[in-house]
Amino acid sequence: MTFPDIVPELKSQMPDLRGRLLANESLTPLTWFRVGGPAQALFTPADEDDLAYFLRHLPEEIPVGCIGVGSNLIVRDRGLPGVVIRLPPRGFGEVTIEGDAVRAGAAALDRRVAEAAAAASISGLEFYFGIPGTIGGALRMNAGANGSETRDVLVEARALSRHGERITFDNSAMAFDYRKSGVDPSVIFTGAIFRGRIAEPEAIRARMDEVQAHRETVQPIREKTGGSTFKNPPGQSAWKLIDAAGMRGHRVGGAQVSDMHCNFLINTGEATARDIETLGETVRERVKQHSGIELQWEIKRIGLKHDPEKWKPVFG
Ligand SMILES: Cc1cc2nc3c(=O)[nH]c(=O)nc-3n(C[C@H](O)[C@H](O)[C@H](O)COP(=O)(O)OP(=O)(O)OC[C@H]3O[C@@H](n4cnc5c(N)ncnc54)[C@H](O)[C@@H]3O)c2cc1C
Repeated sequence: MTFPDIVPELKSQMPDLRGRLLANESLTPLTWFRVGGPAQALFTPADEDDLAYFLRHLPEEIPVGCIGVGSNLIVRDRGLPGVVIRLPPRGFGEVTIEGDAVRAGAAALDRRVAEAAAAASISGLEFYFGIPGTIGGALRMNAGANGSETRDVLVEARALSRHGERITFDNSAMAFDYRKSGVDPSVIFTGAIFRGRIAEPEAIRARMDEVQAHRETVQPIREKTGGSTFKNPPGQSAWKLIDAAGMRGHRVGGAQVSDMHCNFLINTGEATARDIETLGETVRERVKQHSGIELQWEIKRIGLKHDPEKWKPVFG
């Protein structure tokens, strides 16, 4: 699918834009699943001022959203109308230490933040070591692992509104909940400050190694995947419900429920976004039939919908 080219018109309205604005750019290489159609326009801002300028001048009727490194995303095959923003490490990826606090740009990888904290003897951020996203994605998702999550360590997040105004959210204003923030979806996070506590570096390093070693044994982290597909229902494990419903290893086209961890879906090679989403909906349907529990997607699905008829569960 190709969208009408809005880039020349946008550029003419933004003569001082310094970032890169591309038309009909495929998002496939920008997601872990390696599926999905194009963004009508993909914007890579030069820095925060450039992003604010872009948002101030972007016509109201053009939809806009932000992605990180796509480790929690299914981009649908028909792509996204409007503008997708991707913050580059240069301009948004800096990580600095101030005492027991870590300041990180939204494009910084969680892993790098954990490493910087460890190098400065700051404990509390070890859980980020195994999460393959960016700080922007962690703020939006309240990313967490091994009993800790973003809300436990965040002091404040810096952001821009849809209209380019600068906003700061303290921890409570982030309205964190299990794998989500209540902040308006139009808000784009640009950075954050975290606080840990000073501890022995060896103990921090050991904790990070433990986190990583455990992950390698229980998750298919080298596959094309989006991590945990569904949220754990209160008091339950999504993977156990999926396993009990007989869906381990189930396939739709090139998409498969991981044999290793059945709350992970994987692209075995030639999957489309539709295959993956249909497989996810099939899993939900089967779990509902088996246990009466309705699983909720943790993975974000973005882009023009496939024909809803085609979401009918596909049973093998
Ligand atoms: C192998 C694997 C293991 C994983 N393990 C874990 C885990 O243990 N714990 C966990 O919590 N998650 C895990 N995940 C999921 C994922 O890594 C996290 O949700 C991560 O926080 C997503 O970050 P991202 O940069 O990839 O965001 P994306 O996937 O690109 O986007 C996710 C959401 O964040 C929004 N977003 C991204 N950047 C910004 C920004 N700057 N401003 C506003 N919104 C933004 C997007 O719009 C989207 O809604 C795993 C994923 C994989 C593939």
